[in-house]
Amino acid sequence: MAHVAGKKIPAANSMQGLFKKSFDSGFWEETARTCVECGACNMICPACHCFILKDQTGEEGFEKLRLWDSCLLMSFARVAGGANPRKLLAQRLRNRFDKKFNFFPDTIGRFGCTGCGRCSEACPGNIRIQEVLAKL
Ligand code: SF4
Ligand code: SF4
Repeated sequence: MAHVAGKKIPAANSMQGLFKKSFDSGFWEETARTCVECGACNMICPACHCFILKDQTGEEGFEKLRLWDSCLLMSFARVAGGANPRKLLAQRLRNRFDKKFNFFPDTIGRFGCTGCGRCSEACPGNIRIQEVLAKL
């Protein structure tokens, strides 16, 4: 457990067990009930970094653009041929949390979240990251 400005920061691996246990539970469906799939939580997050590439014709010829993307959007994980491993909104919401508190602790040894709370402020569905983690 680390300390920053007098606050306790849980160890990076402290939540992984909760994610493994809840993976197939109804918790994520219930949590996603008010999500309107706007992607604001991703767009405002200082730790989210996913992007999509887009080819287009510009004034000076061919352009390849790198645009922010959101893992909450249905099209995010869709591949050629139309297959989509995360068709359900609850799967996509779970994926966002799982990446930040299970996948990143495994791969880089820290959370994919600064704890800033901006996603909670931006969410029109009132899905608050602090409350989701506390319930979990
Ligand atoms: S609280 Fe975490 S997930 Fe939410 S915007 Fe901040 S860094 Fe991103
Ligand atoms: S900001 Fe809230 S409503 Fe919008 S995609 Fe994220 S969780 Fe869903």
